[in-house]
Amino acid sequence: MNIGDLPNPKAAADLIRSFRKRFSAKKCMAPTQDCQGPVISAHTLSAESMLRPIARDGHVYAVETDLFTANADGATRLVLKGIRDTSVFNGFCAKHDRDLFAPIETVAFMCTPEQCFLHAYRAVAKECYLKRKQAETQPSPETIKAIHNLPDELNLQPSDFALLHQAGSLRGAEEIERLKAKMDSIFQQNDWRRLCTTIIPFADRPGLVCNFLYAPDFDFNGNDLQDFDNVDVDLSHLMITIIPSSTGSFALLSHLDTANSAPTTLVASLINQADITSALVWLVACQTENLALSPDWFDSLGQQNQNLFRKAFLSNVDPLNMSFNQLKGFPLSVPSWQPNTHFSI
Ligand SMILES: [Zn+2]
Repeated sequence: MNIGDLPNPKAAADLIRSFRKRFSAKKCMAPTQDCQGPVISAHTLSAESMLRPIARDGHVYAVETDLFTANADGATRLVLKGIRDTSVFNGFCAKHDRDLFAPIETVAFMCTPEQCFLHAYRAVAKECYLKRKQAETQPSPETIKAIHNLPDELNLQPSDFALLHQAGSLRGAEEIERLKAKMDSIFQQNDWRRLCTTIIPFADRPGLVCNFLYAPDFDFNGNDLQDFDNVDVDLSHLMITIIPSSTGSFALLSHLDTANSAPTTLVASLINQADITSALVWLVACQTENLALSPDWFDSLGQQNQNLFRKAFLSNVDPLNMSFNQLKGFPLSVPSWQPNTHFSI
């Protein structure tokens, strides 16, 4: 559906504007309150250490969501973007963006526990920010009535789907808030070892970089990893970062030491794959929008792989279709980044 097809395009346009405004709200996500300077557009994929090494002429493929130009394929697509505009959110004040992440922004990655923690922390901070905004962004019955030109006196009940969606958003937001609070506590105590990280070194440059977290649902063998229906118990999360390095690249797979078995089972299942590179790329495509692709790499994959990547990716961002993204029997096959022996810290 295009915005022009709606009965009241102006009300829909107002809703989209309000949606955009919420998602650009400025709030510092630092663990301490000693902010200085304005909240700035902070990179979650570091411009110099993550994006520049995979860019072509200063550009990478990244996600663009434009509700005004949504078509049959949805509002989200991969487009060439300048690295300065890629993966930014208004999540930290100038001081905290500079100071908190200095050990991963100004020093080469050396697999220290602090550096692994900071990459995971940045993923959690961004997710926390987005989840809060998503949970706040539920159109009111009045807005829905205005968009569809329904009479004011109509007593509109939210549909079951809307209620479920809202409940799911709120649960997700609260869960990430609790994870963020635990990460804040570790940060303030410099207790980096509370985060367990499995590192996979690769001899080649990565075809993509990413920084995200998700609650593992199924492993590569199709095993069910945790109970999404039990709202009394928090899900456990896996934080995943892929970064270029002077020797090739690293994949960082981190979880709290209090996590259930889901993250470790998923990691073990990934490492056991015959083609770790393709398995990792498929996992990333299925689970996050916070990624950037090397244009040279993606353009060289061939039409079939590109279509598979896009299909996994678009299913991932479609809230009505969460069931497509399965790891078992994944169909992608990309050239190897030459994985070396993994290790844990
Ligand atoms: Zn701050």
